[in-house]
Amino acid sequence: METLELTLRKQKNIALIAHDGKKAQLIDWCREHSEKLKKHFLCGTGTTARMITDATDLPVKAYNSGPLGGDQQIGARIVEGKIDIVIFFSDPLTAAPHDPDVKALMRIAQVYDVPFAANRASADFIISSPLMEQEYDHEVINFKQNIENRVKELK
Ligand code: PGA
Repeated sequence: METLELTLRKQKNIALIAHDGKKAQLIDWCREHSEKLKKHFLCGTGTTARMITDATDLPVKAYNSGPLGGDQQIGARIVEGKIDIVIFFSDPLTAAPHDPDVKALMRIAQVYDVPFAANRASADFIISSPLMEQEYDHEVINFKQNIENRVKELK
């Protein structure tokens, strides 16, 4: 598969999402790291974004609520190269109606080599990385070339 080098800038676009049972933990994590988070652009699913902004004063651009398509909006932004990191405190002990959307978001983050933290420890490691303050080059699938190849193969 041909790849393409993309650069994550110093100032990252970070998506913040938490299932209901994990919202308090994510808010607490945002408080703990607010000095670092301030340096980046933040967005999140509707309820999570609003609750973080109310609790911390960090500006968090809100997409729709997760069960109403917010995870899919964030997935689409990943495809467009507009999201660099996903912090998603999902709740492994509670069934969610939008589980397929959550899986789709994880999958598309994998496809585009986007760092993805599904729990607090992973988020701590990501936020503490020196790469947060640097440009970072990574290889992603060359999506244009991929279409050319598929059209040739399938004709
Ligand atoms: P919410 O969505 O922030 O609107 O609650 C999160 C989710 O459950 O995906």
